[in-house]
Amino acid sequence: MEAWFRYSDELGLGPYYRDRATTQGAYSAPGASFDAQPAIAEPARQPVPLAMAASAGTRRSQTPTPIDTAAPKPIAARPFPQVFSAASLFDERIEGDTLDLIREAIGANCTRCKLHKGRTKLVYGVGNPKAELVFVGEGPGRDEDMQGEPFVGRAGKLLTQMIEAMGLRREEVYICNVVKCRPPENRLPEKDEIATCSPFLMRQLAAINPKVICALGSCASQTLLQTTEGISRFRGEWFDFRGSKFIATYHPAYLLRNPGAKGEVWKDLQKVMAVLGLKPRSK
Ligand code: URA
Repeated sequence: MEAWFRYSDELGLGPYYRDRATTQGAYSAPGASFDAQPAIAEPARQPVPLAMAASAGTRRSQTPTPIDTAAPKPIAARPFPQVFSAASLFDERIEGDTLDLIREAIGANCTRCKLHKGRTKLVYGVGNPKAELVFVGEGPGRDEDMQGEPFVGRAGKLLTQMIEAMGLRREEVYICNVVKCRPPENRLPEKDEIATCSPFLMRQLAAINPKVICALGSCASQTLLQTTEGISRFRGEWFDFRGSKFIATYHPAYLLRNPGAKGEVWKDLQKVMAVLGLKPRSK
């Protein structure tokens, strides 16, 4: 137990949510139309603090400080502290690390956490190893577990439409999750599962070293920003994540249930497009 707490402490992980937004919700909107939709409030979700997760002075339970709150200003114009302030084993970039080496290190038959028990296929990540843009989700759902690829179910189809609306192809970006194995009944990944799996996500992000990381939903944003704040408090703001620009937006599964929030997400994606110099796909 003590060793586990030390491990979580070393990770500097914050609290996580108990109930996972389902990815199996009704697919009410056939197209990724991100415009002309009224914004709606993010539903209130109760944070569950991870006891003893972070040592004094390193805990990040406050609202993360954005780099910039006014859209047109250049991102580097204002100083912003590194999101991970605590010295950590996992802050170190591994010299010569590659996505293949990380996949090998995890192994196809990983049993490090209890999620392996219900897993069909481990879902490592997919896309361009040199992507300028990485999307990080929460964890595989049923379709992803069957196919071994992230975001291939209904939420995944919407993500693909979002990517294409940005003027990109799915193969041009990289897509991965906080946890690599499906949580039972699509519940939120639990803190021990995140603590066990997220070091591999950190290595993936370091190996790709993208210009922009876009976290999809609360789990990915809170894991990467180490905050307990609800995503609606910092969504659409720019942060620094170990040299990459970081932005959080709502999860596509949330959009399936709340299509009215697509307008907010599209605004976030347009910020990403501006940074990457992308033009929206012409209809
Ligand atoms: N939701 C996620 O967060 N990740 C996936 O891969 C699929 C659905």
